Amino acid sequence: MATHTTRMLIIGSGPAGLTAAIYGARAGMEPIVVQGLQPGGQLTITTDVENYPGFRDVVQGPWLMQEMQAQAEHVGTRTVWDTIMEIDLESGPPFRARGDSGDEYIGDVLVIATGAQAKWLGVPGEEALGGKGVSACATCDGFFYRGKTVAVIGGGNTAVEEALYLTHHATEVTLIHRRGELRAEKILQDRLFAHPKINVLWNKRVEAFLGDPGAGGLSALQLADMQTLEISEFPVNGAFVAIGHAPSTALFKGRLEMDANGYLVVEPGTPKTSRPGVFACGDVMDHTYRQAVTAAGTGCMAALDAERFLATFEYLQGEQAQAAE
Ligand SMILES: Cc1cc2nc3c(=O)[nH]c(=O)nc-3n(C[C@H](O)[C@H](O)[C@H](O)COP(=O)(O)OP(=O)(O)OC[C@H]3O[C@@H](n4cnc5c(N)ncnc54)[C@H](O)[C@@H]3O)c2cc1C
Repeated sequence: MATHTTRMLIIGSGPAGLTAAIYGARAGMEPIVVQGLQPGGQLTITTDVENYPGFRDVVQGPWLMQEMQAQAEHVGTRTVWDTIMEIDLESGPPFRARGDSGDEYIGDVLVIATGAQAKWLGVPGEEALGGKGVSACATCDGFFYRGKTVAVIGGGNTAVEEALYLTHHATEVTLIHRRGELRAEKILQDRLFAHPKINVLWNKRVEAFLGDPGAGGLSALQLADMQTLEISEFPVNGAFVAIGHAPSTALFKGRLEMDANGYLVVEPGTPKTSRPGVFACGDVMDHTYRQAVTAAGTGCMAALDAERFLATFEYLQGEQAQAAE
């Protein structure tokens, strides 16, 4: 079991963590990125990405993340395939973490970029048809459904916002909810009910996503009526699961300030968490925008603030050492 020491320890290898690494490495902080169970993050489970700046043509999510990692390594980042299982923030800086491998990681500053995971229904066909008609992000994939029919599954604010957003592209949007009323705010509900392109199917649960992943993708949803238990098929070109996201913050519970949904709380307009020297970026602190480019943007901010923090920290350490002589 080894000990890895760095000036900048980054947990997570999505767009946020790798952008923080690019900036940190170029500032001479020799970052270590611990990649976690999903090296490259959420974009590695999608196909077409059409809204990341710099590419006129559609690029593939996994390719984009390989390029980000290659760029981070090229400027001096070390990426490690490990998952952080324990962390000690109380006695830092420097901060200590232990990986699943048993290795110890010690960083003078810590950047948390552990992201979030969309919640899925977990029904047949969902995984196989992911990126082939089934999505969890209207902002990301809505554009691919121009002139087509789509369904949104859920009943909260996110589901209603996704449905309203999709009216810009799709010919018809159907909101499917397993209850007889929505949880979304009244103002959103008013806009939803008034929209001529949106229909609501009440008291229906999605039992399965139907279609051929190899040819044509999603073709229909299998629905169960919650009151009569009757099973029906609902033909549709695209389906957006909008039942929420879960930030990956279990490690930091009780150690850093979080909101009611478990997202890390940062000082407004900055990546600073409730503990000096610990910065958060990307989806783990952002439940609003949740895009690769915003994750990369906050990753940059985390690295710049980490560098400033480190300059002061190292200066004070030098002063203490001098005073002790
Ligand atoms: C299907 C899908 C399609 C999408 N399409 C688009 C799109 O077209 N355009 C767009 O802009 N956005 C898109 N998004 C959203 C985008 O992927 C996210 O906003 C972005 O990836 C967030 O980046 P992040 O770095 O904050 O976190 P993530 O990408 O979630 O990465 C989190 C990282 O943290 C690591 N990690 C977690 N816990 C630990 C741990 N304990 N130890 C070590 N590492 C850990 C994971 O392994 C992972 O590497 C899509 C998302 C999905 C799910």
